[in-house]
Amino acid sequence: MSARVVVVGSANLDLVVATPRLPSPGETVLGGDFRTVPGGKGANQAVAAARAGAGCAFVGAVGADGFGRQLRDSLVAAGVDVRGLRAAGGPSGVALITVDAAAENCIVVAPGANATLTALDDADRAAVAAADVLLLQLEIPLSAVAEAAAAARDAGTTVVLNAAPAASLPADLLALLDVLVVNEHEAAVVAGCAAGDPDALIGALLGIVPRVVLTLGASGAAYGDRDGLRVRVAAPVIEAVDTTAAGDAFTGAMAVAWAEQGLTGPVAATGDAVTAALRWACAAGAACAQHPGASVALPDRARIDSLFAATYRGTA
Ligand code: ADP
Repeated sequence: MSARVVVVGSANLDLVVATPRLPSPGETVLGGDFRTVPGGKGANQAVAAARAGAGCAFVGAVGADGFGRQLRDSLVAAGVDVRGLRAAGGPSGVALITVDAAAENCIVVAPGANATLTALDDADRAAVAAADVLLLQLEIPLSAVAEAAAAARDAGTTVVLNAAPAASLPADLLALLDVLVVNEHEAAVVAGCAAGDPDALIGALLGIVPRVVLTLGASGAAYGDRDGLRVRVAAPVIEAVDTTAAGDAFTGAMAVAWAEQGLTGPVAATGDAVTAALRWACAAGAACAQHPGASVALPDRARIDSLFAATYRGTA
């Protein structure tokens, strides 16, 4: 049976304009192409998990506007179960993004409908209870994140939090997590320490959560847990074209691999299972970075399998 993943999180429409250079305050510059791209870390990770082969359900909120329809349609097109997607009264969440010729960007996010997702209903809790993995991020109100984590904990569903955007987190939420997924910046913010050596960051985070996955961009990923297991995997060597949603691709695929490798149970993780899961997630992140665009670049299972095989075949 395929892995069952529930994502409780954000959906934003990214409004993206290319511009030769970013405007200064008060200045108008003439830009180039404009495009709308479905985004939001929650929706991106749900699409990533579904394309990676999970049965995936999304709990979120979009507005009563055309953007909301576009966001809903893109989730449905990826095969995500949207019965938990609410239609809120106001506008959908949007991200206004300008990108200059050097790929430097300026982003303003208006949360819109995402801010209305403050609590779960009975159907959401049932979906969380039926899943192998609950996948969370920090772009919706913390009350909903905490409620989802508590529902998962009660039901024995593994709770994975991608602490993005970076924020320090309350102790009662941290106590409900099984796995924390962070990049180096997020790791430092959650741990309340300076960014530094990956082993030191993982060590600091294991003081507050039982298992940590640290993503390291082109250097791959690292894992540590309180049983003393440490794993380090290299990323595929690729030509990175656009790394925008690489973290979302990694996290969505990791949730799927976590279930497929039997890491969601109460037993201690093995090095082999964690290595396999992290390599597959790295293949997903790298496959995403090989293509332009954010959510449109999220890879399907065949692309992940193919880069995984090409990279790690014959590697111990
Ligand atoms: P975020 O985008 O959240 O900061 P990272 O930059 O760490 O996250 O990227 C997430 C994952 O995507 C990495 O662990 C890696 O597997 C993959 N990845 C990102 N950038 C590259 C790259 N340049 N080459 C290969 N893999 C990459």
